[in-house]
This record gives sequence, structure tokens and C-alpha cells, in this order.
Amino acid sequence: MHDHDHHHDHDHDHDGHHHPRPVSEQELRTRALEATLVEKGIVTSDAIDAIIDRYVNDIGPQNGARVVARAWSDPAYHERLLADGTAAIAELGFTGEEGHTIVVVENTPDAHNVIVCTLCSCYPWPVLGLPPTWYKSAPYRARVVAEPRAVLEEFGVELPDATEIRVWDSTAEVRYLVLPMRPAGTDTLAEDDLAALVTRDSMIGTGLPLAPTAA
Ligand code: FE
Repeated sequence: MHDHDHHHDHDHDHDGHHHPRPVSEQELRTRALEATLVEKGIVTSDAIDAIIDRYVNDIGPQNGARVVARAWSDPAYHERLLADGTAAIAELGFTGEEGHTIVVVENTPDAHNVIVCTLCSCYPWPVLGLPPTWYKSAPYRARVVAEPRAVLEEFGVELPDATEIRVWDSTAEVRYLVLPMRPAGTDTLAEDDLAALVTRDSMIGTGLPLAPTAA
């Protein structure tokens, strides 16, 4: 599938050759809008760069990983997180755009959760940052609903037949975060080390946390 949301005009592959690609209509609209806002003095390019920088460097899956590691370490927090995800996530300082209501769904041996936005690309920004391109793609959005087990296998996630797969459709109002199962062999790990095992995809449901490496 092609990446129509890419932010550059050119892609380059492993051998360094450049393949020019057309700019998508969405990119052109975005640029035109930015140029207009800057021209009219409504925003500065610096302000836009600062917002982008914030989402690239400060707001991303590392936030969600802190939430998951805390839930794995602190039973009372775990309970609060499932009861009111938004409030428990805000306790760690993660709030803001595209995350006014976050519902946390917990994986267990009986049920594995996976999130999608079938309409567009709704995603819990405060804890995961910006969505990956595949999350926004039409094939993912359609297929994860129609054949979730096959899609998860393509992501390398093979679940026992007895495990039910629950697909959660995000909306403008409600965003979901998957609380993955704590990996075996991590009983002695501190919260920081646990957080390092929590991948972005494990919080979308299309991946599992990393196994601990022997120290
Ligand atoms: Fe959406």
C-alpha cells in the first residue's frame, strides 16, 4: 500500500536512490493552509514547528509506556486506570488534544484487545502521540474488523484459539488504550525497566510487550 500521508516529497530506499513521488492533495492543502496562516500573521512557522516538535519528541508511546508500567506495578493505580482511564492518565501528567476521554481495555489470557478507527484515524494522542501510517490506512481499518485474527498474525501476534479478540472502534469522543499483559519473568523489574518493554503496538493491540533481556 502507498503512503499518501508522508510528509516529504521524496522517499529513498535502502540503496539511497531517490524516487520522486507526487505530493498528496492533503499535503498541498496543509501547506496552503500553513502559508495562509503565516501570511496573515495568525501563526508563525516557529509556532507550528514547536507543535510538531512536541509531538515528535515529547508526546509519544513513551507516555503510554509509563501508564502501563505504573499499572503493572501499582494495583491501586491499575484499578483506577480501568475505572477512569482519562483521570488515571492525567495523574501522570498526560492530557490534551485528541484524548479528552480515554478508555483503557485490559488484555487477559481470555481476551485480547485491539484498537482501530474505522472512519478515519482517531487515536489517543496524549499517550501514543501521532498514529502510524498503517493505522490510518483503509486496509487496516476494514480488515481488522472483518478478520482480526489474520491481521494480528500479519503483525506477528499469534493468539491461542481460545482467546477472544475484541476490536474497539475509536471515535472523536472516545479513544482507547490497550493495557497489555505483563510479560513473564518481570517480577523483579522496577517501573522504569518495565516501561522499556512496552511497545507502541502493544498498546494498540497489534503487538505484544518485549520479553525481558537477561541482565
Ligand atoms: Fe477517526
